[in-house]
Amino acid sequence: MLDRLDNAGRLDIKSLTLEELGEEMEALGERSFRAKQIFEWIHGKGAEDFASMTNISAKLREKLGERFSLTALEIVGERISAIDGTRKYLFRLEDGNVIESVWMKYHHGNSVCISSQAGCRMGCRFCASTLDGLARNLRASEMLDQVYRIQAATGERVSNVVIMGSGEPLDNYENVVRFLRLISHEKGLHISARNLTLSTCGLVPQMHRLAGEELPITLALSLHAPDDETRRKLMPIANTYKLEDVLAACRYYYEQTGRRLTFEYSLVRGVNDAPEQGETLARRLKGLHGHVNLIPVNPIKERDYVQSRRDAIQNFKNILEKNGINVTIRREMGRDIGGACGQLRKSYMEGER
Ligand code: SAH
Repeated sequence: MLDRLDNAGRLDIKSLTLEELGEEMEALGERSFRAKQIFEWIHGKGAEDFASMTNISAKLREKLGERFSLTALEIVGERISAIDGTRKYLFRLEDGNVIESVWMKYHHGNSVCISSQAGCRMGCRFCASTLDGLARNLRASEMLDQVYRIQAATGERVSNVVIMGSGEPLDNYENVVRFLRLISHEKGLHISARNLTLSTCGLVPQMHRLAGEELPITLALSLHAPDDETRRKLMPIANTYKLEDVLAACRYYYEQTGRRLTFEYSLVRGVNDAPEQGETLARRLKGLHGHVNLIPVNPIKERDYVQSRRDAIQNFKNILEKNGINVTIRREMGRDIGGACGQLRKSYMEGER
């Protein structure tokens, strides 16, 4: 509860569920339909302050301002790709932390990739988001606002959200699940669960827990290796959870939700792109109802990992296909505006220092 209060002790109203807001209205001696009106203002219409809630009396708006905070993230940077129109946004949070989000235009609609934490503590070797460790978890309101502010800035409806920006969403479980319920709420943006994707490095207990939330979102697993030994070289979390258990959790998730999984596999030259590794991968994924996304690793200057050669990538894909595994090579979006996950945030923070 503490993390939903601001410095003045006001409750973060945007993180409250409709039910919680109803209880708050009751405590203020208000009728319960007020909760619905306020919820619609915040989540349906993206209101940035109480003053704009024109069907609420001035007296109640004043009371709301005393009891609650309603903060909107501030856009401190925007970059637009000249190649494909992808946009990257930098947002400053109340406490000065900075996060980044990406807006992508696809034929099926507009997609926003949000951050779930400022920084990250998972330590994946190829990832820029984790270089300075975890600053803090984001609140549900701060995840929602990345979508709301981008929708306002672009003037176009967001139809898909992927939690694939900085941070490990399952390391911020409560706030992320709260976010998912709010963004899919019928009085909010009402984005259906099938248009929501959560990407995890594979926190097994939380994957099981998520399977029981009755939130049939798409689960993406950052796999990146076909065996524990290789995976440990790239992802410290592989020291905690065995691949066998991670894949069992994926199977369980599919059984509980009926949702096909996505396996992300960033190809790093000489580390995880050998033909034998492709064969091993195919064997392990057989019957798992998943789809493999091959991503040529995006090099970051702090590490010396190199992208696989084009022919190695194509060959890796062919091996998976030959073995009956669904696979695509991910199209790179916005390659001219800021490289790998977390790089924009990091260069901004370095500039500030
Ligand atoms: N923590 C979550 C989500 C954030 S990262 C997770 O691990 O899934 C989103 C995806 O981008 C992950 O698959 C991650 O492994 C990948 N990624 C991070 N840095 C990358 C880089 N430099 N090149 C290619 N993929 C990268």
